[in-house]
Amino acid sequence: MRAGSILVLAAFALAGFNALAPSPQPPATRRNILLITLDTTRADRMGFLGSTRGLTPSLDAFARTAVVFTHAYAQAPITTVSHATILTGTFPPFHHVNDFGSPLPASVPYLPALLRDAGYRTAAFVGSLILDPRNGTAPGFDRGFDVYDAGFRLRRPGDDRYQTVERRGEEVTARAGQWLASAGGGPWFLWVHLYDPHDPYDPPSDLKKRFTAAPYDGEIAAVDRAAGHLIAAAGATTFVAVAADHGEALGDHGEDTHGMFLYEAELHVPLIVRVPGLSTPGSRISSRVRLADLAPTLVEAAGVAVPPAMQGESLVRLKPDATDADRPAYAETEYPRRAFGWSPLTAWRADRFLYVRAPKPELYDLIADPNAGRNLAAGRPRIVDGMQRELDEFIRKSGGAARATGRESTIDPDLARRLAALGYVSGSTPPASGVDAKDRIALANALHAAQMEVDDGAFERAIPLLEKVTASEPNVKLAQLQLGVSRAHQKQYARAVQPLKKATALDPEDMFAHYELGVALYETGDLKTAAGHFEIVASRMPKWADARYSLGSVYARIDRVPDAGRELRAALDLEPRHFRANLLLGRILTLQGDPQRALPYLQTAADVQPSNAEARQFLADAVSRVKK
Ligand SMILES: [Zn+2]
Repeated sequence: MRAGSILVLAAFALAGFNALAPSPQPPATRRNILLITLDTTRADRMGFLGSTRGLTPSLDAFARTAVVFTHAYAQAPITTVSHATILTGTFPPFHHVNDFGSPLPASVPYLPALLRDAGYRTAAFVGSLILDPRNGTAPGFDRGFDVYDAGFRLRRPGDDRYQTVERRGEEVTARAGQWLASAGGGPWFLWVHLYDPHDPYDPPSDLKKRFTAAPYDGEIAAVDRAAGHLIAAAGATTFVAVAADHGEALGDHGEDTHGMFLYEAELHVPLIVRVPGLSTPGSRISSRVRLADLAPTLVEAAGVAVPPAMQGESLVRLKPDATDADRPAYAETEYPRRAFGWSPLTAWRADRFLYVRAPKPELYDLIADPNAGRNLAAGRPRIVDGMQRELDEFIRKSGGAARATGRESTIDPDLARRLAALGYVSGSTPPASGVDAKDRIALANALHAAQMEVDDGAFERAIPLLEKVTASEPNVKLAQLQLGVSRAHQKQYARAVQPLKKATALDPEDMFAHYELGVALYETGDLKTAAGHFEIVASRMPKWADARYSLGSVYARIDRVPDAGRELRAALDLEPRHFRANLLLGRILTLQGDPQRALPYLQTAADVQPSNAEARQFLADAVSRVKK
């Protein structure tokens, strides 16, 4: 049998099957499904796609049992956007998840929900806060999952990255393996997300030495190993799909990481699918396909009806090696606008061309120029016009239905705060300025590098980078905010005020910026202005205990003691063991001559931080006053 003919066979088998049994297959006969997504994984690091670096022995072995799609494309270089596409089988203009924190609309078809409705047990194990529906930036992604293993939290200075914002692939795999061991006969659908190749590049200890010079490659080797363990654990009869959500630029077109550009380095991704009994081991399909095609493929392979709202096309029907089977691939990134107020980008891959819609449009012949090095746009206006028309037509046709969730109206202020603390943009989208990201990519790199330093608590290294960014792009809220936060962490409160003021001016809805400004003003002694900013935060985010505490503490210092008591009690209603709120309220009551009422608060403070001298001293003072 010819290599590559499996999907034709699969098509016949499924067509025949559907004709015989139009109603869904009964759950007992359904196959288990394992979906592995590799974050930030470049296609050119895969042995099965021609890499000679030797990073992927497990995936290479798996590829020999499966179908490899050699020209698969992501629809966005952003984790949440791309995963929304993978899991819904729809394009970004339809699912409207266009950045971190955009909620996944309930109306969009969703692979786990479809499979659960069809009798599957469903579980997700993700490797990053970025895909945490509750504490992170992926609200709505847990729909249809019986188990969604995330539970990440923000990292404070001194915290271990792998105990807070991220888990290594081996740990994610171990957790998923435990679930698998208890999953019984099935059918089950398991999605495992391996985050390791995302920067910072920090391979696990046993691979560190081998990859000192190329730590990104070390992360690829780590996910290869983790994926191999999972595939083995899933068993030989399980449907398995492995895909990357996007690649990594590593300097391509000047970008360090990903998010800004839509070239091959960011969007050409590995994709392997194994459908036992239907696939010819080792087949290769060279037609261009999209990650949006994966969900309908898995739904169809499971014998479940593909909902009409799914926009991707099942790969099951793809004719192998047909010269005319290329599917045009759409891609977008809102990140330049969300982060910088620059123009967003869209891309259209059709025939041999890549067209990038940008203030300065780009056209590349990917056959003659696979690295997209020679922009032909100026000399080929008719091709540019044609590509642009197709792109517009695609957006018009694929957009629409799920428009209910305008991001600005639904973003949760608490989520906005967490996003800001993570270094992601949140709140209102600045209008696009018409700046072309390719003209300012060095600044984007500098801001990203600064965020990584902030994340590591290396504020002294972040500050000069952020000063450089804010000097040339003063209207980037994120840069101003991070500069203010970094200076405040270095106790340069007076110097933190100006960038924080600028951040609140650029986005008056950013409560995190107001809060940080309040703290800086408080520390510089401008208590009245500090109170004003804390009042804004407390009124807009009344359930944020730290904000209520901060407002109470500033009231206490400007002789508004009853107001202070009210805010401190509000903080304690939200967080009964809030150390500073207990300490301050207890102290106020003591000084007001009511040490009896102060005692429980001071006792709690002393319990929460037994080694804190002030807590012990205030408690002892209250006790001695009660005795008098
Ligand atoms: Zn990603």
